[in-house]
Formats: sequence, C-alpha cells, structure tokens
Amino acid sequence: MAEGRFLINGTQMSAASLAPGLYIVATPIGNLADITLRALHTLAAADAVAAEDTRHTGRLLQHYGIRAPLVRYDEHGAAGQRPKLLARLAGGEAVALVSDAGTPLISDPGFRLVREARDSGHAVHAIPGPSALTAALSVCGLPTDRVLFEGFLPAKAGARARQLNAIAQVQATLALYVAPHRLGDTLAAMAEVLGPREAAVARELTKRFETVERGTLPELAARFAAEPTKGEIVILVAPPSAPALPDVETLDALLRSALAGQSVSAAAGEVAKATGADRRTLYKRALALKDGA
Ligand code: SAM
Repeated sequence: MAEGRFLINGTQMSAASLAPGLYIVATPIGNLADITLRALHTLAAADAVAAEDTRHTGRLLQHYGIRAPLVRYDEHGAAGQRPKLLARLAGGEAVALVSDAGTPLISDPGFRLVREARDSGHAVHAIPGPSALTAALSVCGLPTDRVLFEGFLPAKAGARARQLNAIAQVQATLALYVAPHRLGDTLAAMAEVLGPREAAVARELTKRFETVERGTLPELAARFAAEPTKGEIVILVAPPSAPALPDVETLDALLRSALAGQSVSAAAGEVAKATGADRRTLYKRALALKDGA
C-alpha cells in the first residue's frame, strides 16, 4: 500500500497508507477548494485512482501536488475496465473512484463497480463531499424533506413528457440535472405537464458566476426561452400542492355513512383513504359520532 503526499497552500502533508478496498471519493463541483481532507488523504495514498477522464482528474491531483497512478473508469469502457479494478482489489490494493465532478454514482459511473466489489467481499468506503444535487437543495429555498431525484430526463420530447407525467403527482421536491442547451425546452415541457409550480434554476454552483433563479415553471420557461444559457444546471421543482381537505360537516357525513355496517377503525380508515384526512383524528371523531355526539 502506497504512502502519499499532498500539498495545501504549499505546505506538504503526508497521507497514511490505506487499508485495501474501494474508496468512493467526492470531488469539487467547480471550486477546487471544496475538497475534504479525507479525500486528499485517500487520493494521495491510493494505489490507483480510477477516473472518468484522467486528464480532468489529473488537473485536480496536480493542484494538490498528488502523484497517484490514474486509470480510466468511464461509462463507455466500464465493462472492460471493471475486471481490472476488481483484480487490483483482490490483490489487496486501495483503489479510489472519482468522477469528473461531485459524487461518483450520482448520475455518474460506479454503481456496477461498487456492487461487484461488495459481492466479492471487498470493503467499500464513502469519502463524502460535494454533489450538485445537495448543493442545489441547500441554497434554493424549496422543501427538502422529501426529494425525488430524476437525474437527466430523456432528450426526446415524447419520452420526456411520459416521464414527467409518471412523476407529476409525487409529493416531493423534484430534482433534475439538465444540459444548458436543453434548459428552455425542458422548462417548457415541465410547465406544460406540472403546471405553475414553484421552481428554481441553480447554475454554476460554487463557481464564479453562480446564480439561483426562482419563479413558477411557466415564468422560468419564458425567461430561459429568451436567454441562451451556458454552464451547469440543476432544476428543482416544489411538490404539487396537497389537495384541500373536506370541511368538518362533510367529514362527519362521510364517517356516519362509513360507520353503517363496519367497525370504527375500518370506517376511519375508509374515510382517511378517500379524503387524505388524518386517520387517528378521524378515529376519535368516529368514536364520538358512534356514542351519539
Ligand atoms: N456526480 C455529480 C454530482 O454529484 O453532482 C453529477 C454528475 S452529472 C454527469 C453532471 C451534471 O451535474 C451537470 O450536467 C449539471 O446538471 C450538474 N452539475 C454539476 N456541477 C454543477 C454545478 N457546479 N452547478 C450546477 N449544476 C451542476
């Protein structure tokens, strides 16, 4: 196992050797300072760094004075490259996996490698850090309690509309990656299928020209139809508004009719399912109605 070195602002640091295994290392999404100490230690001490684009990752390693053997692991060659990486792991090496930016496996290669490494009994460690997904969620001001990450939508209009229709009712903030030349069309398709939901377009996060633009989907679609866009982009869309609950009189009427011929619990369950109202509250009300309240 290699012992490595890296530089921070000209100061040399040594990286302790790593236990054998696969290390999934997040790297910056724009600002090179967004790298963790643990990522630097891991990259400096790894026996090999598997990268989507070795020249791109080479620049990051050079910035931190890291001399690690770079090998390729990209979407197109993965099937041929994977056995070689698994053989290194079987030989007791520490292999780091990085992507061009952010966290590997998040709309980036690595899933099959991690799966096969685990299936073969190798240790797999997370070296977490930046991702455009979490960066966008953290700054856009849309709900983050439930998120549906769709990655990139299909490029073809028909397939894109079908996918949007399939997720239109999901009660979660929707997160997407999009290429700049598809931004206008994608926002227009989203406005058509999802309606006037609140949304955000986060561009060039952590970089010099970082922007976050908020508005409804039709507003953003109009804004970006007119403006040619550059840079890297995440779109977030707020969840659909929850359907309004029926008023108390209507709930009572539904409960009375549901109570005819079934238990209080079953009646409360039936009305909760039909209306979206809280089951426990309905149960208490159904008990009271049964007792003649
Ligand atoms: N694995 C990466 C991650 O964890 O974010 C994502 C890789 S995916 C191939 C690249 C896409 O991520 C870009 O097309 C863009 O949609 C988004 N992205 C990457 N960097 C970004 C940034 N600085 N600002 C906004 N979006 C970014």
